[in-house]
Amino acid sequence: MPAVASVSPEIRAQYEPVIGLEVHVQLLTETKAFCGCSTRFGSAPNTQVCPVCLGLPGALPVLNRRAVEFATLAAMALQCTINETSVFARKNYFYPDLPKGYQISQFDKPIAEHGAIDIFVAGASKRIGITRLHMEEDAGKSLHDGLPDSRDFTSIDLNRCGTPLIEIVSEPDIRSADEAYDYLTRLKEILLYTRVSDCNMEEGSLRCDANVSVRRKGAPKFGAKVEVKNVNSFRFIRAALEYEIERQIELVERGERVPQETRLYNANEGRTYPMRSKEQAHDYRYFPEPDLPPLIVSDAWRREIAATLPELPDARRKRLAEEYGITPQDAEVLTATRELADQFESAARAAKNPKRVANLVQSELLGRLNASGLAMEESPLTMRGIALAADRAEAGELSSKMLKQLFDRCFETREDFDVVYEREKPQQISDSSTLERMVDEVIAANPKQVEQYRGGKKTVAAFFVGQVMKLSKGQANPALLNELVTKKLDA
Ligand code: ADP
Ligand code: MG
Ligand code: ZN
Repeated sequence: MPAVASVSPEIRAQYEPVIGLEVHVQLLTETKAFCGCSTRFGSAPNTQVCPVCLGLPGALPVLNRRAVEFATLAAMALQCTINETSVFARKNYFYPDLPKGYQISQFDKPIAEHGAIDIFVAGASKRIGITRLHMEEDAGKSLHDGLPDSRDFTSIDLNRCGTPLIEIVSEPDIRSADEAYDYLTRLKEILLYTRVSDCNMEEGSLRCDANVSVRRKGAPKFGAKVEVKNVNSFRFIRAALEYEIERQIELVERGERVPQETRLYNANEGRTYPMRSKEQAHDYRYFPEPDLPPLIVSDAWRREIAATLPELPDARRKRLAEEYGITPQDAEVLTATRELADQFESAARAAKNPKRVANLVQSELLGRLNASGLAMEESPLTMRGIALAADRAEAGELSSKMLKQLFDRCFETREDFDVVYEREKPQQISDSSTLERMVDEVIAANPKQVEQYRGGKKTVAAFFVGQVMKLSKGQANPALLNELVTKKLDA
């Protein structure tokens, strides 16, 4: 809970939050940005280092071609203009986990600029500008509590030094914590589609710094911004922004100035604290990296990279809705990841009725996943299994009640539909004399409906089918049943 004296809704409505996000993303290359060391996560400390990433005298960086391709691909997916020439620069600062004393980054000539992400909040879509996307290398890690005996000192792991990153800087176009949350969700979704990063926040492959200020509505200038650092989930970023917005409004309301500073978010307390001011004095003395030539992404190379760009989430959503006749909500769910969308499409293409597959996902799968706490990719019931079930239902071999029971079994035994179906497939009544007896019974019990039917109201047949189905406890073979009902009524 925000620990500020809460600002009233009336006061709050007089202010406009302004937010810009800086997101660092680790690229999924096998090796580091400027040397051949492995980027594997989780190895023993300081086992993936060499003279280049340790910055030993005389060692020279060589740019990783794959890192450039990934950065370019991400930039294209984010609708950026790719600069044919970009320049690496040294960003100088001292920190124990940065043995070189500088980070190789890009400064005034980044690899890409002027992009956008379309977000969707409160039923409306809005375009958030991306100022720039640049390449840089990561620093190492300081472990304050990573070792059993480390209470009195900090250990340094330099395995991460030199891992390739992209930094994506948004325009200050975001106007609420919810918009910030949606921006991050869309950004992650797009990056995952391009497969340039695993975007795993726990492992630090996606990190976000949030800049936020407030101003009175209609004020011509932005207020002083506060940068909130080291927040490790999208939900916490939203909470940290909510807190900051209220805190800043309160300061302004009291007639105080909001100091421009960097703050840290404490998730346990739900509040932000100023960072020690020493750590905020930024004077990086950028200058062009003398050991690397300017980076040229030629037209030909750019076209080669563009050819590997996958269909992106927004486009895929639209196409799925049109091609399979499913609702926008269904399309949204089914395109949440590229893997899921691929699975859905291959299953739906093979199924007799793709729309039924989509409906089953929405009506039967999602709830069961939720109830069992499983993510989509952990589902025992696969898209292929759902497509099989849809086909059985389409062929009239499976009532919806039976289908639900079989899906329940899939989750109980953690088996896919085909396995469960083979073992437990319902005993259908396909014996016509048994079914005929039931049809006769229902016809005898409903003379009024029989009269309606024979008077020309043919739709009443469905009523009889329903009644017999009930009588058979859902086990009547639907195709045979339909046939018998019409035959008897027409007799
Ligand atoms: P810095 O040089 O301090 O990093 P930048 O101008 O590069 O500042 O902006 C960094 C981020 O802060 C960008 O995402 C930008 O959109 C955002 N930003 C800039 N000014 C403001 C402001 N007054 N309020 C909120 N966010 C801002
Ligand atoms: Mg900054
Ligand atoms: Zn190395």
